[in-house]
Amino acid sequence: MIDLRSDTVTRPSDAMRAAARDAPVGDDVYREDPSVEKLQERAADVLGTDAALFVPSGTMGNQVAARTHTERGQELLCERESHIYKWELAGLAQHAGVQPRTIDGGDRGVVTPEQVRAGHVAADGHRPGTGLLALENTHNSKGGTAIAPEAIAAAADAAHDLGVPVHLDGARLFNAAVAHDRPAADFVAPVDSVMCCLSKGLGAPVGSILAGETEFVEDARRVRKLMGGGMRQAGIVAAPGIEALDNRKRLAEDHRRAERLAAGLDDIEGLSVPDPETNIVIVETDRPAAAVLDDCEAEGVLGVPFDEHVIRFCTHWDVDDADVEEAVAAVERAV
Ligand SMILES: *Cc1c(COP(=O)(O)O)cnc(C)c1O
Repeated sequence: MIDLRSDTVTRPSDAMRAAARDAPVGDDVYREDPSVEKLQERAADVLGTDAALFVPSGTMGNQVAARTHTERGQELLCERESHIYKWELAGLAQHAGVQPRTIDGGDRGVVTPEQVRAGHVAADGHRPGTGLLALENTHNSKGGTAIAPEAIAAAADAAHDLGVPVHLDGARLFNAAVAHDRPAADFVAPVDSVMCCLSKGLGAPVGSILAGETEFVEDARRVRKLMGGGMRQAGIVAAPGIEALDNRKRLAEDHRRAERLAAGLDDIEGLSVPDPETNIVIVETDRPAAAVLDDCEAEGVLGVPFDEHVIRFCTHWDVDDADVEEAVAAVERAV
């Protein structure tokens, strides 16, 4: 079976398993786990932030950020297809107690400074006030679009001019960095906090990073504990994350394979496939996506339905060039 459902399906490498086995550990709630400390220092270094916090998942990282930046009853500005709004079980309402106000970021999910100003609400006797702007890069639901640092900075600057902090959901930030051939820190410099996943294209078994200024990270550490994310000998899962941070360059391979996959699928009658920007391939299907996916599974390829006539395929570490060629042939048989 060629599993193209998500880049989260990757299995840890031998080096990661060895790192987990040999990791020096301690109780991380007491801040005594050297492997967690090392991962956090390394992540802060790569992201260009003062500090970083290891969290069990990207969802928890986003939710902790929203809760840490905002007060209950405020509004949170975000793109209408953003993960933090669409795919996190209404966590914004449940954990932060905020009201999302959504912005239409168009085909690529880019939020403009004009949209930030138009969506901003000043607190007064009737209006709650805007507590946070949340951006996403790469934008998952828009097909892994890699938004330039300048566009992130333009939206973030507009929010800052209004006194509103900015969180970046960078679950696949390193894919954006590789696509633009720019350091990840360039995308992070304009914002107040960033979340990035170690467990997607970088291949770690578990975990994400939430990073920002020291004071923010200390507050976030308390919120992480509140949400049940204070872990004990977490070095066992943090050590593979250190290995994962060294896998950033190899994401270019995933992007190259996504391009080849998209080109091959686009040649198939009944499918229409826009050029991917990173490792996510969006396929528009003439037949209902669910039926096409059933037939793909029977031919040995897995994807996920994204809409009634849209399928998402993801390239990742456990998919090689031969798998991509086989996947194109299998989907052609299925369609
Ligand atoms: C995957 C993803 C998350 C959540 O990460 P999990 O580790 O699966 O909780 C958040 N935001 C985006 C954009 C994602 O793609």
